Amino acid sequence: MSQLNGTHDPALKSWVKSANEAGADFPIQNLPFGVFRANGPEEYMRGGVAIGDQILDIDACLDKDLFEGAAKEAAQACTGLYLNPLMALGGRYWSALRARLSELLREGGAEADLRDTLRESLVPMVDAEMAVPAQIGDFTDFFSSVNHATHMGMINRPDNPNPLMPNFKHVPIAYHGRSSSIRVSGEPTIRPMGQSKAPDADSPSFGPSKRLDYETELGIFVGPGNNLGAPFAIDEAEDHIFGINILNDWSARDIQGWEYQPLGPFLAKNFATHISPWIVTLEAMAPFRTHAYNRPDGDPAPLPYLSSPAVEEAGGLDIRFETSIQTARMRTEGVAPQVIGATNFKDTYWTIFQMVTHHASNGCDLHPGDYLGSGTISGQEPGQFGSIMEASWAGQRPIELPTGETRTFLEDGDEVIMRAWCEKEGAVRIGLGECRSKVKPPGPI
Ligand code: MN
Repeated sequence: MSQLNGTHDPALKSWVKSANEAGADFPIQNLPFGVFRANGPEEYMRGGVAIGDQILDIDACLDKDLFEGAAKEAAQACTGLYLNPLMALGGRYWSALRARLSELLREGGAEADLRDTLRESLVPMVDAEMAVPAQIGDFTDFFSSVNHATHMGMINRPDNPNPLMPNFKHVPIAYHGRSSSIRVSGEPTIRPMGQSKAPDADSPSFGPSKRLDYETELGIFVGPGNNLGAPFAIDEAEDHIFGINILNDWSARDIQGWEYQPLGPFLAKNFATHISPWIVTLEAMAPFRTHAYNRPDGDPAPLPYLSSPAVEEAGGLDIRFETSIQTARMRTEGVAPQVIGATNFKDTYWTIFQMVTHHASNGCDLHPGDYLGSGTISGQEPGQFGSIMEASWAGQRPIELPTGETRTFLEDGDEVIMRAWCEKEGAVRIGLGECRSKVKPPGPI
């Protein structure tokens, strides 16, 4: 899965011209999967592949008999409302479908005579409505960035000389999230009501959260799962990951601060989670695999079940993340979103392979379409933080915006926009697209 093959060839171009533009998120080397419909509620949601500013309708291609063998079986698994059947099939099928899609969509390929047929199966993205692409049975959110963990410790436990909890470098920390409130990019976020207690208050109160925050994260979709009581080895972790996208793990810091001890986050986290609609496969990520986090001297080595030369060598993912805010006033005045945090996933302490292996290590069964969050991705420096809690240092350092407004936490009308992409010498840039959502006051949508 991590091997480069013909589908990654930087020389490949698509006859879908928008896929070849500099800076395009979806060139022919990417080919991410999503679920869409084009003509409103009368039409059925189904699987598609992003190419440039178009979506290739896989069901329409099946009708035209464009697939055979394993690629056909994989394509047939894309025709429903969710991509779980595709995720369940495994790497051999995913690769066969990707290889065939690459042939069909490339310029100068053997498929020139099919182009008119294929053109009929393209849907412009601007006309499409996207959906959460899997039936997510379980959602688990990790805490894999040592910088984020350190910053949160410094903010929440200022008197403790050791901001990092003693377990952090030994065990990938996570909490079980809730899948019912996961929504696709573009849908609003309702400010949660909740119970909180200010440090100087005598008693708690109930009301709209005053400390609404985003968390910029990488999302991971599980492919074939494992049986209950049957963990897998770390070198098999690749076989259990279908692909990745962008995740905003909305967090109400005032509710969280009051409720989280001793069992961890609950209502501070489960009121909304937004995800980007396109799943970039692990195979598409092959050119952007990199060394896992370089643990400094003195850090413990991972325990053997989380350790492998292959993961050490190429378990990291070089993905840039950028999070912006646009307030209602910025929109009115035509002021572009302001970047608050820019960071890279390759600097996280734990790899996605360690996370998924750890999750199943106790015998817990993972299922196709289960969803894992990486945890907030933060760099060391201001400007590289993946939450507003860190960016405003819990409200102590207001963020200045071009309109003269300031922010410590999010206000109603603010839109949070996350983008992610991979870029390096010798490879064609690929993007994960974007995850955006606007904050609305409490009440029905
Ligand atoms: Mn999180």
